[in-house]
Order: sequence, then structure tokens, then C-alpha cells
Amino acid sequence: MPRIQPLSNALINQIAAGEVVERPASVLKEALENSLDAGATHIEVQLEQGGVRRIVIRDDGCGIARDELPLALARHATSKIASLDDLEQVATMGFRGEALAAISSVSRTTLTSRTADDTHAWQIGPEQEITPAAANCGTTLDVSDLYYNTPARRKFLKTEATEFAHCEGVFRRSALARPDVAMQLTHNGRLIHRLAAADLKKRAADLLGEDFLTHARPVEADAGLLRLSGYASAPAFSRSNREAQFFFVNHRFVRDKLITHAITQAYADVLHNSRHPACILFLTLDPSAVDVNVHPAKTEVRFREARAIHQFVLHALERALAGSQAAATAFPAPNIAPAPAAPLNVGYGAPRSFAAPSAAVREGSAPRYFAFAQGARPAAAAPLPLQAELPATAADDAPLGFALGQLHGIYILAQNRHGLVLVDMHAAHERILYERLKRALDGAPSTQRLLLPATLRLSARELATARAHGDTLNALGFAHQVREPDLLVLDSAPALLARAPLDTLLRALLADLEEFPQSDVLETRRNEILATMACHGAVRANRLLTLPEMNALLRDMEQTERVDQCNHGRPTWRQFSLQELDQFFMRGQ
Ligand code: ADP
Ligand code: MG
Repeated sequence: MPRIQPLSNALINQIAAGEVVERPASVLKEALENSLDAGATHIEVQLEQGGVRRIVIRDDGCGIARDELPLALARHATSKIASLDDLEQVATMGFRGEALAAISSVSRTTLTSRTADDTHAWQIGPEQEITPAAANCGTTLDVSDLYYNTPARRKFLKTEATEFAHCEGVFRRSALARPDVAMQLTHNGRLIHRLAAADLKKRAADLLGEDFLTHARPVEADAGLLRLSGYASAPAFSRSNREAQFFFVNHRFVRDKLITHAITQAYADVLHNSRHPACILFLTLDPSAVDVNVHPAKTEVRFREARAIHQFVLHALERALAGSQAAATAFPAPNIAPAPAAPLNVGYGAPRSFAAPSAAVREGSAPRYFAFAQGARPAAAAPLPLQAELPATAADDAPLGFALGQLHGIYILAQNRHGLVLVDMHAAHERILYERLKRALDGAPSTQRLLLPATLRLSARELATARAHGDTLNALGFAHQVREPDLLVLDSAPALLARAPLDTLLRALLADLEEFPQSDVLETRRNEILATMACHGAVRANRLLTLPEMNALLRDMEQTERVDQCNHGRPTWRQFSLQELDQFFMRGQ
């Protein structure tokens, strides 16, 4: 064994750099944090060749005094904490005092700075020489030739495009974390981002697109010192990965399993599990309630009360998502002319293909269904002015408006204050039923006795499942008996599903139950089971609805939580504003 000897400072820093400076983007991250900690209001970033060749960060922060310049580059030297108490309360991005030391040990680094008290700037170069320089107040960190002296590291660098993409990601996160700071990014002399100081809304629109905001729900929750705010996307605006999830803890971007789990769980009910929501969320809490000193790169945190934080985030998001856009308050302020006063020129008698319920059916009190077949089509009534269905005040009261008719047995067309509303009737009904079934099961689900017991012939597997899960079926409202050799006799069904095709529904339910052999299936798989029931209980395509039925569905939608998506995360309705329609038809152009 060779003799034990202390490592040189340079080598210590290079070893540390392995953890802190993984790639050019890590240099950028540390530098941006330093600029923000210095109170900068303007930060300018220049990259060359993905940051491998050169990274320059210029800020207008407080600057570093001349005699502190060597310390800034020294390991374990920081102006941000001085005691263990400080560490436990740390409110700055940095505190470890090792980033600049690590960076300058694996690159050619020049630090130029000027404080408000200086008459000119001072510069410390790669050889630690200090010289006067010309610069405005603030600091410029200039890092060239990353890993020039550590070839093993250099080999791990990816293509210029990849390294640039990582840098851009870091820039984006900082820019979202601090919308109040003006920021600019250029790559190889080309301007990539120029962001004026703004509020979060504007910044998010600049970086994630207007689209994100149009489909995002504001999130706002408070609990003592705990606060969650920001935006979470509507489920229909989901992504195939988590790249658009930005979570900040006290303005620090973090990746945290616990938080990711809370976000996923909040959307479990409205999003297929291969899809991921987009969000920008800021969690603020007392600094002493979170440990940020978990990893040198500081992208992980540890919460003192992890479980409480998880629940807080989950419930805040659930609440934000439950508020549906179908509720009147969520509607954008009307920026369009009121609906035309003259009745639209669509008579019920006119087009042959237009499904035309008679006036009697339209006004009929009992909901009545009839098949989508020529023979069952009622005689066409005389043309009715649609205005009769649209009392001006009622139209204002009903966010989703009033039904005009049905399209191909699939979509409901309705007119509201803003224009045309198109509803996928199955998807919407499915969500309504699902939410009602959930609520019903919280109490004692009301059931309806069947006039004639329904009998169902079961396969051997279905029979086994029906036996094993007899109690579950009863608890769900399907009172039944199993008769040898293979019959299931159903005496009652949940009232909400009384009109559903009970045989296909029960088969689907048995297929579900077969996959969940637990006895506590109603606790662990409750929502999946109710979703299956809702899916089979919801109106099928091609079932013709009367206008009162359609209007009843629209009213139900307005009352239902999470109604904007069906249980599978597909949208249930869409608004086409008069403005959009005018644009489409190039009216007034
Ligand atoms: P840390 O940020 O953990 O303190 P760094 O190595 O990143 O450690 O920086 C060391 C010190 O240099 C900081 O504590 C700060 O005082 C000073 N410093 C670094 N960058 C800047 C900057 N852009 N503006 C003002 N001071 C800076
Ligand atoms: Mg730092």
C-alpha cells in the first residue's frame, strides 16, 4: 500500500466537481443561482457550442468586493451561511460554498465583479491574478473549455445539441422560478429567449405557450405557513412524459418522488396512467421545515413532515381540478357580441337527415328513448323557431346553454351565450354517472328492485368470480343469487343504473373483479370498479335523446365535478365561440 497523504486542493476540487459539475448545464444552474442570490434583476446568458466551449453569465446583482474575489473561488467559502442554525433556515439557493471552486477547477474561469462602492470592476483569472477591469455593477462569470484538464470527464459529454438542450432546460426552470427577473439566453450568437420581467402568467405563456395557460387551472391553497400556488393543466392538455412538470420548493426547482406521486394521484381519476399533466407549482413553507442539503446538486429535498406535504399538495390539486370549466365562474369574460336576436334559420322540418323529435316529445315530461332507426322516427313537426328553447335570461343562467339537436347520435349541439357548445354525450354522461356512483357508495347506495329478475348465464370463470365476490356485488347494489349450474339471478340494481344494459354491465364488472382477487376490493379498487359501471351505464352512441333529455344532461354536467373529462381523460365538451365561427367563415373581413 502506498503511504496515506493529503490530497492537493486542486485535486479535492476536481473530485468535488464530479458531483457538482456533471455537465455544462450544471455550471449554468450554479451560476444562475448565484446571480439570483445576489439579488439580480437582469441576467444574461451566452452559450457557445452547447456550453462546452464557453458559458458566460452576466448579472446586475450586488457584486463581490475585490478582496473577496479569491474567496469566491475557494472551496468551503460562502457569504450565505455562517452557522448550523443558518443552514437549518437557509433561504438562499446556494449555501455549500463549493460551486465556483469546483467549476474553476475543471475549466478556465474568469470572474469579474463590481459592487456599488467600487469605481470600477475587478477581475480574477484562471491563474488567480487580480486585475482592474471595466464593467457595470454586478458580476460576470466566464467559463471556457469545460473539462479541458479532465479528459475522462470530457468523454461523457454528449453532442452539442444535447448539452444545449440541458442548458436550455436549466434556463427555463430558473426563468419560471423567478418571473420577476428579466432573463436572456443566446446560443452561438443566436437569441433563444428574451424575457422581460413579468408575472408568472406571462412568463409561463412565454415559455410553455399560450396553449398551456388556456387549458390550465389556477391552483391556490393555504394552510398556515404552507402555501401552494401556480397552474395545473386540464387533463385534456396532458403530455406523454413529465417534462412539463415544474415544481418549486421555496423557489428552488426540485425533483421529488413524493411530490410527483401526489401530482399523479391527483390526476388518477381524470387521466390515463400513460399520460402526464403539465404544471407549474410553487410550494412555499418555513425553510426550517425542509432540508435542502440532501445532495450537492440541491435538486432533492427532504420534508420534515413528508406525509402532510403529500396530502396538502394532493388535495390542493384535486380541488383545483374539481372546479370545472363548465361552471359559470370559470368562463372567460365574454369578449364577443351577444347571441344574434333573430332565430337561426334551421327548421326542424327541413333537412331530411336531421333527427327530428316531435313537439310532443320535446315538451314531454317523462324522458323517452327511441332507437335511431327510420321506422321509429317520429313525424317531423312544423318548423319551430329555436328561440323558443332559448329564453334570453335562461341562456345567461346556463353556462352550457340549451340543446339544439343531436349529431349522428354521438354529439349534442347546444347554443350558449358564447356560441356553440359541442358535447360528447357518452363521455359526459359517463363522468356524471361516475361521480354520482362514487357519492352514492359513500352512503348507502339506493337500489331499485327489478320488476322481473334478470337472469344471466355465466361461464365457469364468471361463476367462480360471482361466488368469490358475492358480497362485493351486493354492496354495489346488485342483490343476486347464484343458481346451479350456471345462472346468476339479479333481483335489484343500483338506482342510478336501472336503465343500463345490465347483462353487459355485469359481465364487465365480473371481468374486473376477476382481476382483483382481494376481499377488500371495494376499498382498494373502488374507483376502477365504479368507472366500469359508469362506462356501461352511460348512454351509448346512437341513442336518440329528446331535447329535454339533452338539456337535462347539460344541467347535470354543470353540477358535476371534473366534468370536463370522461373517466379516461378524454374531453367531454368543447366551446366554439361566435368569434371562432366568424373567423372560420371569414365574416366581417
Ligand atoms: P455558494 O453559492 O454556495 O455560497 P459558490 O461557490 O456558488 O457558493 O459562490 C461562492 C460565493 O461567491 C457566494 O457565497 C457569493 O458570496 C459569491 N458569489 C458567487 N457568484 C456571485 C454573483 N453572481 N454575485 C455576487 N456574489 C457572488
Ligand atoms: Mg452558489
